[in-house]
Amino acid sequence: MWRIFAKSQRLIQAAREEEVARLEQAALTDYLTGLGNHRAYQEEIRREIQRAQHHDLPLSLALLDIDDFKQLNDTHGHAFGDQILRSLGVLLHDLAGTGRAYRIGGDEFALLLPHVAEAEASTMLEVIRQTAHQQMNGATVSIGLSALAMECDADVLREEADAALYEAKRRGRNALVVFEEVRDTVTLISAKKIHALRALLASATMDIVFQPIWNVYQHKMLAVEALSRPAKTYGLEGPAEAFDIAERIGVEAELDLICIRAILNKHALLPPGVLLFLNLCPRSLSHPELQPERIVQLVRQAGLRPPQVVLEITERAITGVGLLTQEVKALQVKGFKIALDDTGAGNSGLELLAHLKVDFVKIDRGILVKAMADKTARGVLAGIVAIARETGSHIIAEGVEDMAMLDLVLTMAQSTPQQLVLGVQGYLLGKPHPTISTEYPLPEADFEEASAA
Ligand code: GH3
Ligand code: MG
Repeated sequence: MWRIFAKSQRLIQAAREEEVARLEQAALTDYLTGLGNHRAYQEEIRREIQRAQHHDLPLSLALLDIDDFKQLNDTHGHAFGDQILRSLGVLLHDLAGTGRAYRIGGDEFALLLPHVAEAEASTMLEVIRQTAHQQMNGATVSIGLSALAMECDADVLREEADAALYEAKRRGRNALVVFEEVRDTVTLISAKKIHALRALLASATMDIVFQPIWNVYQHKMLAVEALSRPAKTYGLEGPAEAFDIAERIGVEAELDLICIRAILNKHALLPPGVLLFLNLCPRSLSHPELQPERIVQLVRQAGLRPPQVVLEITERAITGVGLLTQEVKALQVKGFKIALDDTGAGNSGLELLAHLKVDFVKIDRGILVKAMADKTARGVLAGIVAIARETGSHIIAEGVEDMAMLDLVLTMAQSTPQQLVLGVQGYLLGKPHPTISTEYPLPEADFEEASAA
């Protein structure tokens, strides 16, 4: 009897282990191409660099990006785009030799080539470039290649391959550029800046300020947007530079996580009934530490509930609409509200709005400024308002800096039903500040005057 019991225990244990292994594998695999994903790439590049340096072996890294892929998607549809991504996945898998291929972003791939020196890698990649041209329905790729030098670390190697890729795009695309050949002509993020960012990540600290968002109808505080800034001592220009570097070396999720933690630490400052807007990079949403369940935990640990939190996703950084839609829906299921940030700055936001109901649409400041003088921009604005109306999202106008802009927003608010244009944010109504004051900053008469004008 006990034998049967022990055997079934062993079987259960084996099945469990198999399931854990399967889940671990899935977390490292890109769902569309079956190649390793960004996380797998990050883990392996460090491992391979250590190995190569320890044994004094060559190692090459190529970054590949499909040319004009947005256009291909727009012209032939998303399914066609997905097919191209799959074809490139197969091609890289087949031609990588002993190397390993990863899909590390929307249309970005990486090929890690242990034991392969630059000259050999260059020949191999030239074959890949030409084959891609023949086998991808007319699509082409640009490739940047860099080889490991003795003192090089993962950040530098990536940064060099990225700079070479950028140069390949600049030269007109469908090209392979080897970093060594352009070293003197391209700009790299300095090792000092990368070091500063690494120090910031290690310290896990951020200065936090809050900018008010007002309800245009009630002159009452609707929400605050929390903004993170690296302390001056790190030698970084500001949050934009920190995120720029983080994105180029592939650690934006880590930076996002530090910002979210620092913001939630300040939760006690949040006045009752006021929503908290938090920014998140779309790419961070695939990071294991930023899965919906984890964000719920972080929010709850801070004594808040998901419906009090609005996650802002910027339109500027959206790459894959399909995956992002799923990720955002999963956050909505957990009770978070969603805001689409910088709407109007690109096209992906409108595409996302077609697939998803978001709670808030934040209109890009640039569009508001242009709309005051330009008919086309007014058309874009009207289009965004119409989509928001259709999906039941509320509109927030951001970057309102003077009375003329406020007036435009109020006119929009008056001409749309059901408090569609609900919020207004900008220097005129409050700059970002470490504390939160719920007192409405303009005389109410001014507000009415502006709305009457
Ligand atoms: P460039 O030559 O400068 O690379 O131009 P590009 O148009 O390819 O620009 P970029 O690489 O920045 O654009 C990537 C595009 O890839 C944006 C997005 O529409 C598309 N994309 C990202 N993920 C997916 C996906 O999973 N499927 C499809 N079909 N398209 C995707
Ligand atoms: Mg591209």
